[in-house]
Amino acid sequence: MIEEDIQASSSVLDLCKWLPAKVNIHAWRLEMDRVPTTDALKRRNVIVGDSRCILCNFEEETAEHMFTACYIASNVWQGISSWCKIPSIYAFSIKDLFSFHKNLRVSDKKNEAVQGIIMIACWSLWRARNNAKFSNISVRIENVVSEIKAMGFLWFFNRFKNAGIEWREWCSFVDM
Ligand SMILES: [Zn+2]
Repeated sequence: MIEEDIQASSSVLDLCKWLPAKVNIHAWRLEMDRVPTTDALKRRNVIVGDSRCILCNFEEETAEHMFTACYIASNVWQGISSWCKIPSIYAFSIKDLFSFHKNLRVSDKKNEAVQGIIMIACWSLWRARNNAKFSNISVRIENVVSEIKAMGFLWFFNRFKNAGIEWREWCSFVDM
């Protein structure tokens, strides 16, 4: 899978320039319903064990649930909203997540930052899910949010043109 294929597909996703390919590709796969949740595997007749969402241990694990309705995801979105000083992220679908930044009335720089942060959050939630499922590492909301902040800074600082931002500023999201 290369980035040109993503642009050529029917996805409405805008690639985020300051993110590495793996994060863009994950977001694209998510939007195209190609992330192997237990629900997706069952639809492909793969035998799966417990099909409950490992984040909440309650609902059936579908991509929509895991990244929007699940209380772990909702808490992560709340954490991001307050960190980035933006309105609450309410998402009912994966598409809502990836178009959220388009309706923000903020600077272009902040807009691109928020776009990328939402994509990193999806990537981190999926990693947390895999760590819980395959390595028995319990999911902690604050750890997921910390990882999003840290990875976000690393990539924004190194890859966003004229980022000019320090860790302290990133954490308080000022002057964006
Ligand atoms: Zn859940």
